[in-house]
Amino acid sequence: MKKNYKIAVIRGDGIGPEIVDEAIKVLDCVCVNEDFTLSYEDYLMGGVAYDMTGSPLPDATIEGCMKSDAVLFGAIGGEKWDNLPREFRPETGLLKLRKALGLFANLRPTSVFDELLDASTLKPEVLQGVDLFVVRELTGGIYFGEPRANDGQKAYNTMVYSKFEIERIARVAFESAMKRRKHVCSVDKANVLEVSQLWRDTVIEIAKEYPEVTLTHMYVDNAAMQLVRNPKQFDVILTGNIFGDILSDEASMISGSIGLLPSASIGGTVGLYEPIHGSAPDIAGQGIANPLATILSASMMLRFALDETKAADRIENAVKKVLSDGYRTKDLARYGAKEVCSTTQMGSIIADYVAKA
Ligand code: NAD
Repeated sequence: MKKNYKIAVIRGDGIGPEIVDEAIKVLDCVCVNEDFTLSYEDYLMGGVAYDMTGSPLPDATIEGCMKSDAVLFGAIGGEKWDNLPREFRPETGLLKLRKALGLFANLRPTSVFDELLDASTLKPEVLQGVDLFVVRELTGGIYFGEPRANDGQKAYNTMVYSKFEIERIARVAFESAMKRRKHVCSVDKANVLEVSQLWRDTVIEIAKEYPEVTLTHMYVDNAAMQLVRNPKQFDVILTGNIFGDILSDEASMISGSIGLLPSASIGGTVGLYEPIHGSAPDIAGQGIANPLATILSASMMLRFALDETKAADRIENAVKKVLSDGYRTKDLARYGAKEVCSTTQMGSIIADYVAKA
C-alpha cells in the first residue's frame, strides 16, 4: 500500500488561493507514479482568518499544522487589514505560526533559468550558472532580542544569540552543503560585533563535524557586494536573522522575478513551505499570478519534509522544461515568451509535463 502524507494547506489572502491551487494540481499529478499519496486539510491564516474568526491565526490552524507532515502556504496580507492593531494583522498570524512550529531555519534557494537571464537587472554573464542557497536563522537575533525600547528620545534593540541557537542553524547549513557543492560561507560582522564573534567561533567548531565541507567567512557588507559582483562564488550562505533578511532579498533579484522563488522554514517537527513573495493584492483574482514559486515550494516540501527526492526532481525538471519551451505568465512575458499563459494554464502545463516525466 502507498504511504500517505498529511498536508496542511493555508491558502491565505490575495493571490494565495490561486497559486496554491496550482501547486496542489501539480502535486496530485506527481503522486500518480510515486509510492505515496497526499491528503490535504485546509486551514485559515491571515486576513481571511481574521474576517472569519476574529484572529489571524486560529488555534485550529496551529493544531492542524502540528498534526500534519508539512504545511503548504500561499501568502497573506492586504490593505484591508493594514490598519488593524498589530495583534490582529495578517503578518502577526504568520510570525506566531513560525514560532508555534519552532521554525528556526529559513532556506531559500536561488538559481537562474538560462531562458530568463534577461529578466534580471544583472548582466547575463554574471548570472549564468548561479545556484546558491541561503540558510537564515529565523527566530533569534536583533528582531527578538531583549531589552528593546523606544521612549521617543532614545531607542534600542539587542542582537543576542546563544551558542545553542548558532550551533543548530550551523548544522542546517552544513547538512544542506553536504547535499550540494560542499561549501559554506558564513556571513557575520565579527570585526565589530561580539555576537558575531561568538557566531564565527561556534560555526568553526561545528565545521569540525563536517570535514568534507569547506567553510569560509565573510563580513556582511562584503557579502552584500559580492552577491551582485560574483554570485557564482556562493554555494550555501549561512547567516543570522537580520543579515539573512537583507541578503536573501538581494539574492532574490538574481533570478529576475519574485514569482519564481520558493522557500522553506524548518527546524521543528513540521516545516512550512511557501513562495517568497507576498499576496500581490494588485493582481489578485485576475488569473495572471505566476504559480511557479509555489509549485517549487511544493517541490521543496517533497524533498525536505517527505524525503521524496525523485518526485521533487520531477517537478523541478517540469518547471525548467516549461520555461525552455517558452511558456510564461504575464510577469515574465517580455522574456522569451512563445506563449503567455494564465495562472491555471501554467499549472496545467506543468502538471501535464510532470505526468509524462
Ligand atoms: P508582493 O510580493 O505581494 O508584491 C510585489 C510585486 O510583485 C507586486 O507588483 C506583485 O503583483 C508582484 N508579484 C508578487 N508575486 C507575484 C506572482 N506570483 N506573480 C506575479 N507577480 C507577482 O509584495 P507587497 O506588494 O509588498 O505586499 C503585498 C502584501 O503581501 C502586503 O500585505 C504584505 O504585507 C504581504 N506580504 C506577505 C508575505 C507572506 O505572506 N509571506 C510576504 C511579503 C509580503
